[in-house]
Amino acid sequence: MKILIKRIGFLISVIVFLSMTMMGCDRNNNENPESIYNDFITENVIIVVIDGPRFSESWGDSTYANIPRTKNDLSPIGVINASFYNNGVTYTNNGHSALTTGNYQEIDNTGLETPYFPSLFQYWRHAKSASKNKSWVITSKDKLHVLSNCIYPGWNGKHSPAINCGIGEDGSGGYRHDSITYNRTMDILSSHHPNLTLINFREPDYSGHKNDWAGYIQGIKDTDEYIYKIWSFIENDPIYSGKTTLIVTNDHGRHLDGVENGFISHGCDCLGCKKINFLAIGPDFKENVVFDNPREITDISATVAHLLNFQMPTSNGSIMHELFK
Ligand SMILES: [Zn+2]
Ligand SMILES: [Zn+2]
Repeated sequence: MKILIKRIGFLISVIVFLSMTMMGCDRNNNENPESIYNDFITENVIIVVIDGPRFSESWGDSTYANIPRTKNDLSPIGVINASFYNNGVTYTNNGHSALTTGNYQEIDNTGLETPYFPSLFQYWRHAKSASKNKSWVITSKDKLHVLSNCIYPGWNGKHSPAINCGIGEDGSGGYRHDSITYNRTMDILSSHHPNLTLINFREPDYSGHKNDWAGYIQGIKDTDEYIYKIWSFIENDPIYSGKTTLIVTNDHGRHLDGVENGFISHGCDCLGCKKINFLAIGPDFKENVVFDNPREITDISATVAHLLNFQMPTSNGSIMHELFK
């Protein structure tokens, strides 16, 4: 019944949106498309989504014991927002699709349903007439292949990014180890130099669900190391260096201790599930700054669209102007 009510709510929001579009209202009414002038240096954006670390074991831990790379190597050259939230459904496909489309959606979490609205990949490819291998979705979880498509009228099956998802690489075969995803990422970045890429690591969510606290903590440490290695690659690559932005976030947190099963699971609207991490590094971003103004996961694609100078007319997100130099 609860799901039915949420689905009806989503349908109503779609109908309201479509009628607003027909009446000529622009959702992004704070941005006049004609007036956009962009002198950003960024030509490439790489978004890394770490699956399911809780804030209290990552940036919210004042010892930063599990994220030494983020604390010591990355945050001094980037900008953090310590009040960042997934305000929608706190499951994997919901969090990822909120990021990529700028809309919260009650989407199936097993990979059976594509997002309703077009993604930033589709809008970017369309705006830039870019070939498919210039935009990639690379994920440990096979079910996240749905991020490459949408069912929005006129956009279904169009301008989709290339994918490398799960064991089968085509969105089938189950979850693969993050070390494989890291290696595939390095292969794809070095051979294609895509301009717009999203990477998902399955840890620490994978070990959390197994009730494996040590594995969960190790998953946070391992992904911290992967993002450092990705940034080091960017800095040392002649095509990417100086022109590339790295954004690191997560799709959801986990229950607070004392809520249901604590770190083992997630999916409710407790603060532990909603509060996520946000870090951005690149030539257009402030350095060594920590913001505390509330922002949310739907703001990421709006900010990337602003940075790369394309429109996302169906996005509900806001541009995070405060992050820029
Ligand atoms: Zn999970
Ligand atoms: Zn919760």
